[in-house]
Amino acid sequence: MNEYFRANIDAMAGYVPGEQPQPNSQIIKLNSNENPYPPSPAVLEVLRNFDAEWLRRYPNPFAQEFRCAVSEALKVPADWIIVGNGSDEVLNLVIRACAEPGRKVVYPTPTYVLYSTLTQMQSAEIVEIPYTEDYRLPLAELIGANGSVTFIASPNSPSGHMVSTDELRKLASNLSGVLVIDEAYVDFAEENALSLVAEFENVIAIRTLSKGYSLAGLRLGFAIANPQLLSGLYKVKDSYNIDAIACTIGAAAMSDQAYKNACAEKVKRSRTKLAADLKQLNFQVWDSQANFLLVQPKEKNAEYLYQSLKSRGILVRYFPQPGVNDKLRITVGTDEQNQVLVETLSKLME
Ligand SMILES: *Cc1c(COP(=O)(O)O)cnc(C)c1O
Repeated sequence: MNEYFRANIDAMAGYVPGEQPQPNSQIIKLNSNENPYPPSPAVLEVLRNFDAEWLRRYPNPFAQEFRCAVSEALKVPADWIIVGNGSDEVLNLVIRACAEPGRKVVYPTPTYVLYSTLTQMQSAEIVEIPYTEDYRLPLAELIGANGSVTFIASPNSPSGHMVSTDELRKLASNLSGVLVIDEAYVDFAEENALSLVAEFENVIAIRTLSKGYSLAGLRLGFAIANPQLLSGLYKVKDSYNIDAIACTIGAAAMSDQAYKNACAEKVKRSRTKLAADLKQLNFQVWDSQANFLLVQPKEKNAEYLYQSLKSRGILVRYFPQPGVNDKLRITVGTDEQNQVLVETLSKLME
């Protein structure tokens, strides 16, 4: 026991991010669901023309330029948008504003591990409810738990499955707390749940530029909810959480929806091919609406494959938690990267 820390901080493990090698290394990186394509050319243009004078002053506290670009692109009013330093920060804002000891934070598992980490920091009560084996939502149990905050990632990580808008609607209408719909992978999916934000005062949808917009290094995410719900989050937000560079670059990326959509289409085509190739190698492959695949080797041990791929310069994600420790989460790369992965796995399966 370290006497400097609060007891819950002392007791908690801390989030373990995926391995992040040097950007110029030769490693094929399929472990953090980054987009294999570069950001929009509009982003480079902004960087080239960036005026250092913009850095002398504090940035706009609401990331107004970026917020307007989101408003335009998604057809939602600017005052229904809050911007975060990555969507991770927005998740943290929700927890800080809504969770405390004696209040419950509820989510189905397996899912994004950060929900647990953030809740532990706040000393709120965690209620984890397992998905069924085929990743159907435990709707009755989630409603029964009635959390102050309920997190649903859709598409979910690491499974890649989508929760239907109908099920989310049932959840939203039966919960007295906040329903957070984490849409980090929505750019690769066939549906989204944005309409529920207008329908329900307790629904907040969270998006990121890290996956669909190829800007994981920029750290920019945002949420959409009614201004009443956002008002609590604004109180706990750092005043200048978005730096001037991120705000301007983000606006350029958001305004280039055509480029983002074209990259997403390429990723979706590669996803179909990679899934077929892995099935050929006798992997079970779950249907995915995200830019990654959850796969289970039927013949070899998942951790062995993770280690063997790593030693051959290919990083995928292995989660040691029960329920997923027999599976791998593999980001969809370029067709060339996926080909190297499949050939390497093919050798390892012999
Ligand atoms: C990647 C991811 C995020 C975090 O995205 P950032 O905007 O980079 O912080 C949030 N939720 C889920 C489910 C993710 O996979």
